[in-house]
Amino acid sequence: MIEEVAEAKQQAVKEFASASCAEELERFRIKYLGKRGLLAMFLKSIGKLSTEERPGAGKVINDAKVSVQQAFDEAKERIAVANQGEVAASSFDWTLPSYSFARGHLHPCTQVMDDVIDIFVEMGFKVETGPEVELDYYNFGALNTPKEHPARDLHDTFYISDDVLLRTHTSPVQIRVMESVKPPVQVISPGVAYRRDAADPTHLPMFTQVEGLMVDEGVTFSNLKAVLGEFARQMFGEERKTRFRPHYFPFTEPSAEMDISCGICSGKGCRSCKGTGWLEILGCGMVHPNVFDNVGYNREKYTGFAFGMGIERIAMLKYGIDDIRLFVENDLRFLKQF
Ligand SMILES: [Zn+2]
Repeated sequence: MIEEVAEAKQQAVKEFASASCAEELERFRIKYLGKRGLLAMFLKSIGKLSTEERPGAGKVINDAKVSVQQAFDEAKERIAVANQGEVAASSFDWTLPSYSFARGHLHPCTQVMDDVIDIFVEMGFKVETGPEVELDYYNFGALNTPKEHPARDLHDTFYISDDVLLRTHTSPVQIRVMESVKPPVQVISPGVAYRRDAADPTHLPMFTQVEGLMVDEGVTFSNLKAVLGEFARQMFGEERKTRFRPHYFPFTEPSAEMDISCGICSGKGCRSCKGTGWLEILGCGMVHPNVFDNVGYNREKYTGFAFGMGIERIAMLKYGIDDIRLFVENDLRFLKQF
């Protein structure tokens, strides 16, 4: 019988090792370790042996049982691990493309505003802001535009009361800065401004501006041209040319408008530039001495330049957009292009 037990043990270990799935393994378990399995039969048959043979046979059978049980446990573990791998592989396909999320991004005007601010900050300008609901004095009076001044007609102003209005430009920030610090001053003031314009391809009742101001001893028109020329090259590219045309603003003297060469026709003349080869990008000039008087700066000692530009206008020129209203319509087909 001892040989039979040894043979059964060997057979059991071999079959457990060969089991490829849980069902097959269970069949083998019943065959060898079940209540009526082979090993149980051997134990039962001990009773038929002689008294001397019993203890030896019992030990052999029990040792065989331990070995077979161990072989079964190992096979069970092996199959469980294989199944886990299979489940993992079937429920997660690493090669599938991922879901795409609809992510927003900054508005094109915000992007252009950030670019403009970066360029001037790199040139040493500090960023200052001021209120959008402004006193008439800061919006006009202090900027050399008293009540009866004809230039006020150019600004269709939203008045809240006789002396309070929605600022028509960001220039009041210049006054507030100069009232609070002594020269040298080198600031830009980004922000929104309001005018009573009906919305059309080139006008919005609310728009975005960046104002710049530099005041110190010995600041000249050459400094203005250098700073704004550098700005235009960084914003629009090295190949674009700039020019200054005489203009009129109450708060600067002399005043100018700056143009850049048309990027579409390279200055030859096309519909975008109305055949001139040039596109207007901003207004600028040397700070009027009357403005210095209003803020208590010595007009004999200090000179300075100021400039102001519309961010929507810069964005339109940079991206070739022909209608300013696109910026506020929030049409995703438009916004997604930036
Ligand atoms: Zn052109």
